[in-house]
Amino acid sequence: MDALPEFRLVRPPSLGEVVKARAENPAAQLLGGGTDLLVNIRRGIVAPPILIDINNVEEMRTLKANADTIEIGAAVTLAELAAHPEVAMHYPVLAQAAACIAGPTQRHMGTVGGNLALDTRCLFYNQSEWWRFANNHCLKTTGDICHVAPKSRGICFATFSGDLAPALMTLGAQLDLVGPAGARSIALPLLYIGYARQDEPITQSQGDGKHYLALRPGELIRSVRAKNTPGLRSGYDKIRIRRSIEYPVTGVAVALRREGDVLAELRVAFTGTNPRPVLLEGTGALCGGALDARVFDGLERLVRDQIMSMKTTFTPGHYRRRVAGVLARRLLMRLFEESTPVA
Ligand SMILES: Cc1cc2nc3c(=O)[nH]c(=O)nc-3n(C[C@H](O)[C@H](O)[C@H](O)COP(=O)(O)OP(=O)(O)OC[C@H]3O[C@@H](n4cnc5c(N)ncnc54)[C@H](O)[C@@H]3O)c2cc1C
Ligand code: SF4
Repeated sequence: MDALPEFRLVRPPSLGEVVKARAENPAAQLLGGGTDLLVNIRRGIVAPPILIDINNVEEMRTLKANADTIEIGAAVTLAELAAHPEVAMHYPVLAQAAACIAGPTQRHMGTVGGNLALDTRCLFYNQSEWWRFANNHCLKTTGDICHVAPKSRGICFATFSGDLAPALMTLGAQLDLVGPAGARSIALPLLYIGYARQDEPITQSQGDGKHYLALRPGELIRSVRAKNTPGLRSGYDKIRIRRSIEYPVTGVAVALRREGDVLAELRVAFTGTNPRPVLLEGTGALCGGALDARVFDGLERLVRDQIMSMKTTFTPGHYRRRVAGVLARRLLMRLFEESTPVA
């Protein structure tokens, strides 16, 4: 590994000062726990001259959860989220997702904001400078082509691998953003614009994969909020190569509501497969009946259509897609069985 290059570290004490520091230094980057950013700086992938540490900002350290709502500041750590008793009780999908991220050291340092804004990953990108140089770099940095898909016509397929986003998507989470132009809230899925579809035009809400977040210049994540749905049962599961300190090969979040023997509501979201976390579209059509072959076949079809893994990790894309389907099905069955039937 290379030595860390020079950079300046600033530690603003308030949200207003973070926004000001960010606006004054467009090349600066926010520093949460640094568990991903510092690795990328050390590898020469990014070289921000200034890091703006958000960990002293009280407004970003809120963690409030009860049976009705949850609000999590962007500077809350993954370990704090995983250990919060009300989160585990009312929002198990979140506690479970946080608890299986990386290892204890990264969870102690890593933040919710950093996890949601995590850079996308690829086996040609997350490498040392000399390795990338030897391969003439790639589209995502300074190169001309995508080594994963040489005919990609400017599209990068690097994969989003954060575990919290799919969990929060199944809860219908809203993001609170703040920037030089003021504050705004958006539905979480709208943050992720890494569509990487060659058959569709690139727009403000459909990026080319190199641009994977809808944050405006100087904008940052302040917090994320969700409401509880009475009777919703949720959980998270993931497959990884090692059982700890490892990104997901694929991760799945499921939230469902059971009424008697009927599957009344179903939400399924994935990470580790596409250039963005995917909240499956079309699960509503699988509801309204028993949990039977119609649901399982339908789920399989939705996964096949919407999960488009490319060879961006050491595991083949088609394997990740199959694992995604199997994980989702198993979790769906477990949660349905565990749900107390509501007549
Ligand atoms: C060995 C190892 C294994 C890992 N395994 C996993 C895993 O299994 N699952 C997983 O999800 N992650 C994994 N990670 C990645 C990382 O540890 C976590 O995603 C962590 O939550 C990142 O948070 P952070 O605060 O450290 O982010 P940082 O590294 O500080 O920042 C990451 C990015 O987010 C930006 N950012 C930070 N805060 C904000 C904000 N409030 N608003 C806007 N942008 C912001 C930064 O500028 C940077 O671009 C792993 C890392 C390592 C080193
Ligand atoms: S998918 Fe292609 S362009 Fe994107 S990081 Fe990998 S090799 Fe580079």
